[in-house]
Amino acid sequence: MNEQIKLQILEKIETYSTIIVSRHIRPDGDAVGSTKGFTQILRDTYPEKKIYLTDEDHSEYLSFCGGEDTVPEEAYEGALLVVIDTGTRARISNQNYAKAKEIIKIDHHIEADPYGDINWVEDFRSSACEMIADFCVTFKDRLKISPTAATFIYMGMVTDSGRFRFEGVTGETMRLAGAMLDYCVDYETLFAHLYTEDITKFRLKSYVYDHIQLTKNGVAWIYIDRNVQEQFGLTLEAASDVVSDLSKIRGSLIWIAFIENVEKGNIRVRLRSRFLGINDIAKNYHGGGHNMAAGATVFSVEEMKRCVEDADILLGEYKSTHEGWL
Ligand code: AMP
Repeated sequence: MNEQIKLQILEKIETYSTIIVSRHIRPDGDAVGSTKGFTQILRDTYPEKKIYLTDEDHSEYLSFCGGEDTVPEEAYEGALLVVIDTGTRARISNQNYAKAKEIIKIDHHIEADPYGDINWVEDFRSSACEMIADFCVTFKDRLKISPTAATFIYMGMVTDSGRFRFEGVTGETMRLAGAMLDYCVDYETLFAHLYTEDITKFRLKSYVYDHIQLTKNGVAWIYIDRNVQEQFGLTLEAASDVVSDLSKIRGSLIWIAFIENVEKGNIRVRLRSRFLGINDIAKNYHGGGHNMAAGATVFSVEEMKRCVEDADILLGEYKSTHEGWL
């Protein structure tokens, strides 16, 4: 698939002496894993090139992955920028991106903004890391793939696919994950980092379970306002994580976390679903993303309630016209 584009990307990389790798704001395991893994491969394969990874935005839970140096602005001049896992230019974490000479986009979101000079977009992939793994396998004789790089790539594959459970996971996903394991992924340490949590997280979960709201048709939702954030000493990111605590209620095929963004004066919306898509709702509320995992923004409690009502209507229609859902 897209063999020609992958070859074009490798050849482009080989012609540049400075390459900057970048990802999306609020990076998740896939954004961090794909960019860290890809950067490591470029550094190991081309020690004579200057390879940077931009690192303006962080996620606490991934701090074990380590940080990066800040990229000097002048480095962009004449450089090749490789942006991974980032659907639109507004979501690129480094806003110096336009200063690069050329841009390569590598992404698995539904195409909405082909901002690259080369765009390699495969929205059927369960993660951007799956694409990087595919790149590794395709060019295994030309790239140096260390256990560290493979571990980062594997991390993105397991996190973005919900440990290989979500829509988009295929036999190919597993074969590519297997290919990464063959490079000696340190999964014991990786999973220890991913699965252990501070005790305060458990106290928050207890609050969330007590305050989940359910609509008539079974949309599970919660609003984490500034008071709750203060009560538990939460960063916006930590507050946003509560979406995963809503995911296991039988009959709740849609679940939504609303998180007050005190700094921006709006409310971050994280929508998730199984069996039916919620991307259209996200689009109606200034957002987008994947069919069953999308993000949006609302600007008032009233708008939040409208969003919940829209989701409830959608779920009601789905349930009345489908069978076999749990
Ligand atoms: P989140 O709930 O922020 O993790 O978002 C879920 C998915 O939707 C991620 O893949 C995001 O990249 C994508 N997404 C989130 N917010 C937006 C947005 N405003 N526009 C487009 N895609 C988004």
